[in-house]
Amino acid sequence: MAITGGCLCGAVRYELSAPMLFGGFCYCTDCRKSSGVHAASMAVPEAALTITGETREFSKIGGSGHPVARVFCPTCGSPILSKGGRPGVVMLKAGTLDDPEYFKPMASIYTSRAPSWDKPREGMPAFPEMMPQA
Ligand SMILES: [Zn+2]
Ligand SMILES: [Zn+2]
Repeated sequence: MAITGGCLCGAVRYELSAPMLFGGFCYCTDCRKSSGVHAASMAVPEAALTITGETREFSKIGGSGHPVARVFCPTCGSPILSKGGRPGVVMLKAGTLDDPEYFKPMASIYTSRAPSWDKPREGMPAFPEMMPQA
């Protein structure tokens, strides 16, 4: 059973044919600016994700020192995913899911950047910077 989602206007749609690998909240400045608040993202295998509709992307050097590409709908501006952290893995924005309950956050990262009005959720692992690589 495929997981589906898309942007606000419906021009960009996607289907995910593999389960999410990891889910979390990112409090970095780039996610705050591009999402409006912290990002809720799930790591998924890029090969399992089929996107239809025209997208645009904006690239910027991320906290890791590598370029991070942020893919969005050029019509309505909804952020769809970011990529660049790990080869073959993209971070799909949980808010784009047709069924948002599919998303399960497991940790928070870059919590040292969280504003006072958006404190990381208590009882969930939190990392002040990037999560240490396993
Ligand atoms: Zn759209
Ligand atoms: Zn971030």
